[in-house]
Amino acid sequence: MSSSRATRPQVASVDVVVVGAGFAGLSAAERLVSTGQSVLVLEGRDRVGGRSLSGEVAGVRVDLGATWVSRRHTAIRDLASRAGCTLTGQFAEGRNVLWMAGRRRTYQGTIPPVSPAALVDMARVQQALNKLVASIDAEAAWNSPQAGEFDAISFGEWLDRKHALAATRALMTIVSKVQWGCSPGDVSLLHALRYIRAAGGVDHMLDVEGGQQQERYVETTQEIAKRVAEQLGDRVVLGTPVRRISQDGHGVTVRTDSAEIKAKYAIVTVATPQRAEIEFDPALPEQAEGLAKTWRMGVLSKAFVAYEKPFWRANGLSGEALTDTGTVFITFDVSPDVHGPGILMTFCDPRVFDGFSPQLRRGRVVQQLVQLYGTQASAPIDYLDHCWGAEPFAPGGPNPAVAPYATTTYGPALTEPHGRVHWAGTETAGEWAGCMNGAVLTGQRAAERVAAAAARELQEVPVR
Ligand SMILES: Cc1cc2nc3c(=O)[nH]c(=O)nc-3n(C[C@H](O)[C@H](O)[C@H](O)COP(=O)(O)OP(=O)(O)OC[C@H]3O[C@@H](n4cnc5c(N)ncnc54)[C@H](O)[C@@H]3O)c2cc1C
Repeated sequence: MSSSRATRPQVASVDVVVVGAGFAGLSAAERLVSTGQSVLVLEGRDRVGGRSLSGEVAGVRVDLGATWVSRRHTAIRDLASRAGCTLTGQFAEGRNVLWMAGRRRTYQGTIPPVSPAALVDMARVQQALNKLVASIDAEAAWNSPQAGEFDAISFGEWLDRKHALAATRALMTIVSKVQWGCSPGDVSLLHALRYIRAAGGVDHMLDVEGGQQQERYVETTQEIAKRVAEQLGDRVVLGTPVRRISQDGHGVTVRTDSAEIKAKYAIVTVATPQRAEIEFDPALPEQAEGLAKTWRMGVLSKAFVAYEKPFWRANGLSGEALTDTGTVFITFDVSPDVHGPGILMTFCDPRVFDGFSPQLRRGRVVQQLVQLYGTQASAPIDYLDHCWGAEPFAPGGPNPAVAPYATTTYGPALTEPHGRVHWAGTETAGEWAGCMNGAVLTGQRAAERVAAAAARELQEVPVR
């Protein structure tokens, strides 16, 4: 791996330039190298991993971005296993905490202690949602039978039409904030259904046991990316934003601030809104431009609070909490073991978090943990947070918060190649869009498509 400040990309010509060194870009490069292609991966940040980033709290490495994998995420698991990274189960023993409508309750298992009427309502809405999800075409949601109807309203408006009770709405708001980094009113129903379908359904999306939150990596998920990048060596160049991609019938020219690289093809893996930051010549067709302009990223923030020991475990609590008020809306126990340090990972609402000073952010999170876990939570030994919306380069995450109409109008442009420019990145996935597994699959898919296009071109060269 090289940094542009120390080593400017000297390579004048390669087979394929890959833009972005997240899981999609690194997987594309890995696959291309294995088939004998020469590759250069250009990454705008001074690190690899994209929306996967490690931090350290109380001496323990934690995931500031992507964390969990499910048993069904076989592509990222395979990549991680080849990189020598180790899985650990998400701790979930004991009672969970629910803070709703100003009241704290604890409960065992997955059924929250709400009124019987609210429970019936949650089941009713979830069932209705699952029915719609089943009708969605995972590979092309915009071609689903009722796509136009679903894309004309927001997820929030659908909840209104279903007359969802307050408790159901609160639960769905938490889901929306975690998945799309926005409130249900800010995301199209079709976009929400597409992501739920991609995540294997509502249950698989939300569950720890048997679901998407089942396991995480001891070394952190960014470590997987770092190890893959190490294998790729000098083919990965950091601190090198791609500014312009031009093309003619023979190849592409990729321009950065310091170099021009010629290649037969480019694979662009940046998140959808960041496509708009690159100048294309010829320009992107109208639909592809619309996609980049309307598929804006949602925002989510995370904070980690460390204690001497995971004291909540001794009190019979799992460290898992759901709340409908305040800054924190979910917590999980990511302690290395029972001996400590005890670490609570919290998801925070950026609207009441990102713009505040580090001291205020910390104070607010700790105060809320005291409400959830009692006075022992008032004496942390360490604290760390990360605001994805405040990242200077490629901000936002985890996923785009796509408003009504933008999926049916612009969705087909997600994967449609622009001449010699192919697209990858988790947004372009069918199954597993929105997670690391989707990113890996799309990188591999784009590499195969480019290899196939190159082979076709070779066959078309007239023999003299
Ligand atoms: C807070 C949070 C929690 C998450 N939790 C999970 C989870 O538990 N499990 C899970 O599976 N997923 C999770 N995700 C989602 C997961 O991180 C992403 O799906 C995945 O990492 C996306 O990979 P990617 O390669 O498609 O895109 P990215 O990781 O975004 O990579 C794209 C890269 O392109 C670079 N780039 C952008 N523009 C340019 C340019 N012009 N030139 C050069 N480089 C450029 C960016 O810097 C970036 O490194 C989470 C994400 C966040 C933010």
